[in-house]
Amino acid sequence: MAASPTRDDFDHYMTPNYSPQQAIPVRGEGSRLWDQEGREYIDFAGGIAVNALGHCHPALVKALTAQANQVWHLSNVFTNEPALKLARELVERTFADKAYFCSSGGEANEAAFKLARRWAYDHFGEKKHKIISFKQAFHGRTLFTVSVGGQPKYSEGFGPVPGGIVHAEFNNLDSVRELIDDDTCAVVVEPIQGEGGVTPATQDFIEGLRELCDQHLALLVFDEVQSGVGRSGKLYTYMHYGVTPDILTTAKALGGGFPIGGMLTTDRVAPSLAVGTHGSTYGGNPLACAVGHAALTTIDTPEVLDGVARRHELFREHLEVINRKYGLFKEIRGMGLLIGAEMSEAFEGKARELLPLALEQGLMILVAGPNVLRMAPSLVVPEADIQEGMARLELAVEQLVGQS
Ligand SMILES: *Cc1c(COP(=O)(O)O)cnc(C)c1O
Repeated sequence: MAASPTRDDFDHYMTPNYSPQQAIPVRGEGSRLWDQEGREYIDFAGGIAVNALGHCHPALVKALTAQANQVWHLSNVFTNEPALKLARELVERTFADKAYFCSSGGEANEAAFKLARRWAYDHFGEKKHKIISFKQAFHGRTLFTVSVGGQPKYSEGFGPVPGGIVHAEFNNLDSVRELIDDDTCAVVVEPIQGEGGVTPATQDFIEGLRELCDQHLALLVFDEVQSGVGRSGKLYTYMHYGVTPDILTTAKALGGGFPIGGMLTTDRVAPSLAVGTHGSTYGGNPLACAVGHAALTTIDTPEVLDGVARRHELFREHLEVINRKYGLFKEIRGMGLLIGAEMSEAFEGKARELLPLALEQGLMILVAGPNVLRMAPSLVVPEADIQEGMARLELAVEQLVGQS
């Protein structure tokens, strides 16, 4: 029998674009994971805001295995029942009239940006192609999405990059006013900047973007890849603001761990994605859509969404208790179960150092940039696991404080 794979195999056999932790998790249940050595971890990372129902949730396992015995793949030469069911649920539960499916968040944004350009081209001609997005924004890793994203390090060395993209300041409407004009086809924004540091948009900002887009006949695109599907305590974060986009992208939690992405839009815009304009072999794959349907209908219930608000308070209280003892954080922010804690001056840039320390204590957490600790746990993480995870976090914090 071949020996079990090891972390060293990563360096031997895989491209060096990631630097994974030493432990290799092999099994998960709820908000707990176990590695090859049988060590147990509490999961506050949630596969980066993906495992919204924890690991191996019975409803998702059931949907996946049932579909695995029916049909796996057809391509878009045929439609399929799971895709039709998921599209209908998304349309009935949101502003949208139409859904498009793909396999990741980056692809969903790629589709959204292409649709915005194509819609403007169809109605106004090719001059109206300017896209306004925001500094620190993250929209994926394809060349178009890193270019729209607002972190230059992600497009460095990959040029020439697509043109016609400008970046304004997040939560600063004046900076958008300076850039927007009648050649603008879209303003693209994350209602909560995730990778950029877990920063929610202000109410005035989101309302102002809607007005500016309407004045200049530009489309408002919400990237809800990270903030969507219950993460903020409502199905989509735009619902907190009462402001409706023209296009919304969704992925991550939508599959609860199975790769799926989606783009939602209105009947006004959708016709520009006419036959032949765009597509993906796996988009709307039956397995992905069956799991997506189970995840969506399980999460979009008062039981789960109200629980998110309650758990948010618990996370905040625990972090504040830790902060009162150690003065680690300058600000604790976020919505629902997307929580960021910005490091105080004394610990500037040290968020990442907490990750291996927490792992040693049996806790998985995330960062968002060098200065923000991030947590994106399961939306149904048991309260006992929150207690235990926070106790483990405090042990890791004690170590970090002891080192500095
Ligand atoms: C993760 C993320 C993406 C990219 O999704 P992938 O599935 O990694 O392609 C895009 N936008 C936001 C806001 C994200 O958080």
